[in-house]
Amino acid sequence: MKLAIFGSKQYDKRFISTVFASSEFESKKSVELVFHDFPLSPDTVALAQGAEAICVFVNDNLSAPVLESLHDVGVRAILLRCAGFNNLDLEAAERLGFFVANVPAYSPEAVAEFAIALIQTLNRNTHRAYNRVREGNFNLDGLLGKTLRGKTVGIVGVGKIGLALARILQGFGCRLLAFDPFPTDAFKQYGEYLALDDLLPQCDFVSLHCPLIDSTRHIINEHSLLKMKKGAMIVNTSRGGLIHTKSVIAALKNRHLGGLALDVYEAEATLFYQDHSDDIIQDDELMRLLTFPNVLVSGHQAFFTEEALTEISECTLRNLDDFLQKVPCKNSLVNKEKPLAKLASIPVRI
Ligand code: NAD
Repeated sequence: MKLAIFGSKQYDKRFISTVFASSEFESKKSVELVFHDFPLSPDTVALAQGAEAICVFVNDNLSAPVLESLHDVGVRAILLRCAGFNNLDLEAAERLGFFVANVPAYSPEAVAEFAIALIQTLNRNTHRAYNRVREGNFNLDGLLGKTLRGKTVGIVGVGKIGLALARILQGFGCRLLAFDPFPTDAFKQYGEYLALDDLLPQCDFVSLHCPLIDSTRHIINEHSLLKMKKGAMIVNTSRGGLIHTKSVIAALKNRHLGGLALDVYEAEATLFYQDHSDDIIQDDELMRLLTFPNVLVSGHQAFFTEEALTEISECTLRNLDDFLQKVPCKNSLVNKEKPLAKLASIPVRI
């Protein structure tokens, strides 16, 4: 059988092929890997023809019409090589009887460490210093930052990544607050859980680590921004839809928001992971964001470490083995015995 891997870059080919070749996966005996460098979309879904399984990433289109087309061409398994599944219509996938599995955990430290990189770049202006020094300008005006020790950091969503961030920030000597509708004991050794409205006014930095679901879409909006301390900074390495972009632009313009670092962006699907340097980018909100000296944007790369890519490849191929051997898959998002199993762990449906 064929596994069609959509949106695959050179690094995907390298890590998936290496792990596939070097491990004892059942799939090695019967599966042919077919790499497509274009993403899955209504326009490309026909190219899944001949594949029984597909492998997709964060910005591939897994809407109900695409799932129906996949089913029509004979695809039966969907392997997400990522944790988030907000781009997938789970109910449609279940109705059509797909096997669907994700990679729920891969080096949460990779993302947490990147969030730290963003916090400190934004806070200490190393992005500006880098450019300035290359021009022979060694002036420090405009580069003033804050010592992290003693500052209050709010973590919104304390799962695997939020907890990894808490561990690191404890080392910096930060005071940690968290908002999560499902509190666990694991965080309590690092800080205090609060309601979001009580957390926001106290924080110097807010880092987002919750999934994108109905109840978290635009969790950072005009109203929540007003509750934040003047000059506080926001870091988002989770999903772009957590932030209402127009509202953060307004808050940056009136200087209420002190800085914004985005690894993810609400309208990233048509831009990220592609080279648009010869294009006229039509997204005026993104382009406006890029004009602020206190805004950093990276292209959804927080996960991007050698360790994480290895773990993603291994887990994806283990999920494929479970599909081939027809055994229960612990990373299944949809299964007949326990419909929408994963959704039970989050408060509201996607
Ligand atoms: P996780 O499931 O371990 O943790 C998510 C946490 O969010 C849970 O504790 C959950 O209770 C909490 N939560 C649920 N609803 C909430 C709400 N309404 N408000 C606040 N918290 C809420 O997930 P994780 O592995 O820590 O990943 C977190 C997110 O990071 C993922 O959803 C994914 O979107 C994103 N992510 C981004 C990258 C990247 O490269 N930028 C890589 C991996 C994951």
